Amino acid sequence: MVSNSIRNQEEIAKFAIGVDLGGTKIGAALVNNHGDIKEYIKNPTNAQQGKDVVINRIKGTINQLINQSGVNVDHISGIGIGVPGQLDARTGTVYSAPNLPGWKEVPICRIIKESFQMPVTLENDANAAAWGEKIFGVGQGIRDMVCLTLGTGIGGGLIFNGKIYHGNKFAAGEVGHIIVNKDGPHCNCGGVGCLETYSSATGIRDRIYDRIKKLNKNNSESDIDNMSLSDIFKRARQGDPMVKDIVEDAIEYLGVGITILVNLLNPEMVVLVGGIANEGDKLLLPVKKYVFSRAMKIVLEDLQIVLGKLKGQAGVLGAAALLWHSDK
Ligand SMILES: [Zn+2]
Repeated sequence: MVSNSIRNQEEIAKFAIGVDLGGTKIGAALVNNHGDIKEYIKNPTNAQQGKDVVINRIKGTINQLINQSGVNVDHISGIGIGVPGQLDARTGTVYSAPNLPGWKEVPICRIIKESFQMPVTLENDANAAAWGEKIFGVGQGIRDMVCLTLGTGIGGGLIFNGKIYHGNKFAAGEVGHIIVNKDGPHCNCGGVGCLETYSSATGIRDRIYDRIKKLNKNNSESDIDNMSLSDIFKRARQGDPMVKDIVEDAIEYLGVGITILVNLLNPEMVVLVGGIANEGDKLLLPVKKYVFSRAMKIVLEDLQIVLGKLKGQAGVLGAAALLWHSDK
């Protein structure tokens, strides 16, 4: 029998805090268990100032969030944190994070828990985004799902049987490093021809810079630095020969990567999130066309390939949702 005090605790603890730690910004949201954001704030990470500064900024951001919301801390069930790096979600330790200098073996859950005296849970940022879409977004009710975060890099989250799949060393889901061309460009991971080198924002820009260099052109002629990714996609659609085939490659290789994933994993749903997913149908339709013409027939039965619906909030919502629904 559940004691009254526990029942009361469950009834009042209807909020959770989701923290999305990025290389440039720390996002934090106070979220209720329906996925409504009661309060949201964003602060610069100041990652270059080192680990201790960043940890203090995380604490400051959480404090600011709680104070601004006016919610009693007794009503908050805990804090979920999404981190862009390699980590052990079970022990709450970040092993390394390329965009956060000095982050080696950081027991972030223990550190934050000491300050706030509430449960703290940790996930890779791409897993957190996938979890957000699963619990509050397009993936509600879906059991087997693959989520690709298409941004400066390409991250991935795998959800099987309604749970995040972590793999032996908590490194599962690195879909950006699927090799799509054995002779392709070098990748940060040490590999060659990874999906990320073609279909991420950085990959697309690097290939354009590379072309400018090879053609011995002045960078200012094409003005890539001042162009948003959406401008680059627009120019490609208008037929600009500097970018057209590079953007077409980005879309086609994304199709190749997703075809590999659906043949291997047979998910019910593939979700695309992140900055590049803002291209909407202009990205989704050609990718779907590719996958549906190349993957095995059996895995295409009832397969949905869709855009996420939480947009920039998937990270904080997913991190908050870890408190209620995660099972490591
Ligand atoms: Zn790679």
